[in-house]
Amino acid sequence: MSKLLSISDKPLIIAGPCSVESPDRLNAVVKSIESDPRIGLIRCGVWKPRTRPGGFEGMGEPALQWIAACRQQMATPLPFCCEVARPEHVALCVQYGIDAVWLGARTSVNPFLVGELAEAMRGTHLAVMVKNPITPDISLWIGALERLKQAGIDDLAAIHRGFSTYNNFGYRNNPLWEIPIELRRRMPEVPLLCDPSHIGGRRELVAPLSQMALDLHFDGLIVECHPEPDSALTDSQQQITPNELITLLDNLKPRTHKETGPSDLQRMREQLDVIDAEILRLLSQRMKISKDIGTIKQAHNMPIYQPHRWQQVLDRQMQAARELGLDEEFVRELTEKIHGESLRMQK
Ligand code: PEP
Ligand code: MN
Repeated sequence: MSKLLSISDKPLIIAGPCSVESPDRLNAVVKSIESDPRIGLIRCGVWKPRTRPGGFEGMGEPALQWIAACRQQMATPLPFCCEVARPEHVALCVQYGIDAVWLGARTSVNPFLVGELAEAMRGTHLAVMVKNPITPDISLWIGALERLKQAGIDDLAAIHRGFSTYNNFGYRNNPLWEIPIELRRRMPEVPLLCDPSHIGGRRELVAPLSQMALDLHFDGLIVECHPEPDSALTDSQQQITPNELITLLDNLKPRTHKETGPSDLQRMREQLDVIDAEILRLLSQRMKISKDIGTIKQAHNMPIYQPHRWQQVLDRQMQAARELGLDEEFVRELTEKIHGESLRMQK
């Protein structure tokens, strides 16, 4: 049987509402996008994990009935996917003929739950996507994909939806692009999709984030699309209308697979390689000094961490960042990382 989730020349586009709210709204959005040949799969939330109690938690089983009815009316039925968070959800998806499911960010963070879901999926026809865990932990993400593979699921993909961090830099969820790129390096066989809606959290960010993902060679997008986004029961600020989705797809520049590029690009890359090597050489020098400082502190019975000194280091670096035109948050994080490693070396 051919796979729903596979790596191909054309990006896989998944679109649909954050939540199924009513048969009318579901039919309206599906009618407006079903005939676009670029859409490969329809997404719709049936059970909604909400961070705080009191919000709309999804329609549950009735939504599955509406999906089945909606699909029957389609001239050429498209596959549907929804989020599952409990083994009972998996059973209901199988019962109602859902084609693919995904594990949300609040589920992939929990290995016990992922294990239970993987067991519930064993032997089913379901294709499965795994959103990155809410915390920036690549091992949990990889672990979830491995648990599903071990349960015999081979129609599998990963979805990058951004991470909850101390500072999200204007995004709803910090993209931390280096993490999905590292996932791709470690699991090149797993298609990698981007969820620009949950990364951006705002309508105007969906198109630029989609282009960014394609430029980074992601294999597809999962985009929230609603007939009347402003009155949507969930994620109203980030959902786009079907027309906006079609314009977004029209304007997407195709991915290029040219890895090398013109000669001045190659020359600049060589310069970057030299700078990267120099950064590591300087870091290694810095760590050697830190180690020696650790020995002196120990000999004089001094604490390793000295808040006053750390404040001085940080102030000096932030001043330098401003003078050099570097992003202050970036330099703060970098300095915190280097300082943390330095303290570890001193122990
Ligand atoms: C969703 O896709 O609607 C959703 C709740 O996503 P996430 O798990 O990324 O928050
Ligand atoms: Mn959503």
